Amino acid sequence: MRLLLVEDDDMIAETVLGAMRRSGYAIDWAEDGRAAELSLGNGVYDLVLLDLGLPKKDGIDVLNAYRKSGGAAPVIILTARDAVDDRIRGLDAGADDYLIKPFDLDELAARVRALLRRRTGQKQPIYAHGELTLDPAAHEVTKCGEVLPLVPREFALLQALIEEPARVFTKAELEEKLYGWGEEVGSNTIEVHVHSLRRKIGAEQVVTVRGVGYRLKRC
Ligand code: CA
Repeated sequence: MRLLLVEDDDMIAETVLGAMRRSGYAIDWAEDGRAAELSLGNGVYDLVLLDLGLPKKDGIDVLNAYRKSGGAAPVIILTARDAVDDRIRGLDAGADDYLIKPFDLDELAARVRALLRRRTGQKQPIYAHGELTLDPAAHEVTKCGEVLPLVPREFALLQALIEEPARVFTKAELEEKLYGWGEEVGSNTIEVHVHSLRRKIGAEQVVTVRGVGYRLKRC
């Protein structure tokens, strides 16, 4: 999962970036409204965390423009403005949820998980596919009930696949989901992760679609 944080306060940004990375998400950081618009133009984000009081362009204007251009990722507003009017404007502009600063990082993580589930039509908190289950909150994967020791990138890779089990992902799409800006991605990085994931969950679980990419085994 790849997130975008739009926040001009360094301290809050560092805290949120650290927490989200520890939760296994790739996350990029835009420090003002213009940088946010440029980043959102890439169309690679699964979810956006958006401050409202921003330099260069207000968060509400960023959100309005994003929705008008067809941007569909869920948006959580993070704002110190606890006035009801701002929250209403944010929700009416297309936000899906909001948190008032200072907020609890565990609550933020739970709201992120809830919106990511809703985005793919998943009602249950735990993903199940054949013999596999993936629990984003506990960061746990099981096969036939047995817990498998996945490292964070393997977990993130499996999460991307299990969220849309019928979809074939290209390597480029998986790179976008697993890596943020400034992270080195070698030309065979995704193959390496697929290889190590297969060793842990079973080679047959991840199918190579020749010339296209990867998907989960049908079940
Ligand atoms: Ca701000």
